[in-house]
Amino acid sequence: MSVNLLDFDAEGLSAWFARQGEKPFRARQVLRWIHQRGEGDFNAMTDIARSLREKLLASAAVSPAPTVSDKLSEDGTRKFLFDVGNRNAVETVFIPEDDRGTLCVSSQAGCALECAFCSTGRQGFNRNLTTAEIIGQLWQANRALGFAPGGERIISNVVLMGMGEPLANFDNLVPALRLMLDDNAYGLSRRRVTVSTSGIVPTMDRLAEACPVALAVSLHAPTDGLRNRLVPINRKYPLAELMAACRRYLVHAPRDFITFEYVMLDGVNDSDADARALLHLVRDVPCKFNLIPFNPFQDSGFRRSPAERVRRFATLLIDAGIVTTIRKTRGDDIDAACGQLAGRVQDKSRRVVRLAASASVTAGSLAGVELHP
Ligand code: SAH
Ligand code: SF4
Repeated sequence: MSVNLLDFDAEGLSAWFARQGEKPFRARQVLRWIHQRGEGDFNAMTDIARSLREKLLASAAVSPAPTVSDKLSEDGTRKFLFDVGNRNAVETVFIPEDDRGTLCVSSQAGCALECAFCSTGRQGFNRNLTTAEIIGQLWQANRALGFAPGGERIISNVVLMGMGEPLANFDNLVPALRLMLDDNAYGLSRRRVTVSTSGIVPTMDRLAEACPVALAVSLHAPTDGLRNRLVPINRKYPLAELMAACRRYLVHAPRDFITFEYVMLDGVNDSDADARALLHLVRDVPCKFNLIPFNPFQDSGFRRSPAERVRRFATLLIDAGIVTTIRKTRGDDIDAACGQLAGRVQDKSRRVVRLAASASVTAGSLAGVELHP
């Protein structure tokens, strides 16, 4: 079986090259071909000695997960669906904005954490994505999107806000993050790569040590009682511990704030009293808030807060001095709103979505689907 070179960060690739009796600078050359130039064909790597190319052809490959579909929304949002085998697929969404282009990447097929309002959670957990499957999403999207006329990459930011809990797949995540930051690969600054977590406290500390990129924390409730219900991992790592972990993270973080994500659920967590309780909760944590209008899905049991309520909630936070944004819903026509894992969810008893069935072949804007032959 050939080795998939997308599984290696710079260090891993040098070590593999060393095992083949090759020098580290050769590994660096190949790393640049693969990630800077998006080349997957060893024969096209023209400045690599022919003998090495032949060796690579015999023992290695650049194998991203195959693209199942690639859809462009009217607003420019583009959604890729990648086949990760065993009838599982994951989604990657590109969101163009005036001043940046953000790629929203998945870290797992499914998710074990079962947040009450999340369609990925509804599907249960299938498996962790490999490093190659995580970085392969960026590799493929970069190849599809290319460069701006000035020579800059179209993808300027990456957020791990797709399907799955990135910190529950730490060992495969970290090499992928390192490639995103590596000047010989994607060269993104740590401020432009964001990991979103539901709050796995010990792994937040490990991330701070291993690869401190920007951090977003899915808060969604101001009290343990409510958060236990909405984000069940809270029973293990309650709010006081989570806030302390955020403060510790900030010592290493590339930005001087944590982004708190807060999904707005009608009549559940969106009252003035909730906003005030939140202000009290985060009083010692420099932060910004990103309010996400709930993206409904079948039998979710929740409704999206009315726009007026979301604005009022935002105003309370802003008046207290916290920078607060309301996430725009994007790519509705292709079910591709980043971080809003809803859409056409299949219930657990009937977990198969027929790929051929319709143009909207999704189990959620960023949720995975099971492929059907
Ligand atoms: N597992 C990680 C990252 C993926 S989810 C996490 O939970 O942070 C990315 C964001 O989308 C999270 O804030 C998540 O709570 C939110 N989200 C999940 N389901 C949603 C829905 N139906 N509508 C709006 N936001 C949702
Ligand atoms: Fe998993 Fe995040 Fe969905 Fe919770 S919100 S179930 S952690 S993907």
